[in-house]
Amino acid sequence: MASTYRADGAVGYGREGNPTWSALEQALGDLESAQALALASGMAAITAVLDLLPVGARVVAPEVPYTLTAVRLRELHAAGRLHVQFVPTENLNAVRAALPADLVWLETPSNPLMRITDLAATITLAHEHGARVVVDNTFATPLLQRPLDLGADIAMASGTKYIAGHSDALLGVLTTRDAELREQLRQRRSLLGLNPGTMEAWLALRGLRTMGLRVRAASANAEEIARRLTTHPAVAQVLYPFLPDHPGATIARSQMRAGGAMVSIVLHGDADRADAVCRATRLWSFATSLGGIESTLERRRRWPSESEQVPETLIRLSVGAEDVNDLWRDLDAALRH
Ligand SMILES: *Cc1c(COP(=O)(O)O)cnc(C)c1O
Repeated sequence: MASTYRADGAVGYGREGNPTWSALEQALGDLESAQALALASGMAAITAVLDLLPVGARVVAPEVPYTLTAVRLRELHAAGRLHVQFVPTENLNAVRAALPADLVWLETPSNPLMRITDLAATITLAHEHGARVVVDNTFATPLLQRPLDLGADIAMASGTKYIAGHSDALLGVLTTRDAELREQLRQRRSLLGLNPGTMEAWLALRGLRTMGLRVRAASANAEEIARRLTTHPAVAQVLYPFLPDHPGATIARSQMRAGGAMVSIVLHGDADRADAVCRATRLWSFATSLGGIESTLERRRRWPSESEQVPETLIRLSVGAEDVNDLWRDLDAALRH
């Protein structure tokens, strides 16, 4: 914990570097055979990447990305700073029609519609047209999906979620195998003040020690709960990439080691009914955010910024590492309530 360093050492000032950040970055980089940069939050990571682009740069982004990715890109487009096209990236022809571009932003599985983009094919196509590719890998984590191996220039994650893993720290992560690009992003971090807190970096470093155990357990729980929900009378639709009827199931199975721990469900009935379900659970907390060891759920459209393409009764489930039968009993009771 230091903002001030003695002169002539490795670090000049606390906004530039910190031994705890370096230890976290070493571990995160090793996970992806890459170089990592830790930032203040997922949004800070997104800000650093977008700030690299020149005025008027062309960006292709998913039709329904993480809600604040969309909000920020729309702002930059409206200000004339960037030219942004939102396209369904799960459709390769839609991406092709939007190229050429300077940057293609991908997110798979996407938050909260769980759409699956074919990373290898889309990255190859983007590179053929001279675009750099960034993949928001928050939902999958580097343990289940490795965008850099599939050619992405940058993998991005909200470290707030599975990496820190205990709902107690905000953090962002960028990884790349391009040392020059990493240095450019590091400069953005310093100049824009996007640096992580030391305590947060330490919490994430400790959280990383159990990420394998947590993600494996939570993903197995999610797959089981998704499967059980498919026959639940209150549920109209279950969105989970490893369910056989998911439109992206084949691609998901080819690029992910497991389906992950996020499940979205669309309920019969109206928004009030979906809100009532969120308030009726006892083990699952009604809360936004995701990726903690404890399960949370929320109706996404309670946020005015959420896309209108997200159904009013969609509940996003962040499945944790609790006992799967406890989770099921609690959720089933709330749905029947
Ligand atoms: C939460 C989230 C973010 C933003 O991360 P913060 O750490 O909350 O700033 C970005 N992308 C996805 C997919 C997320 O779930």
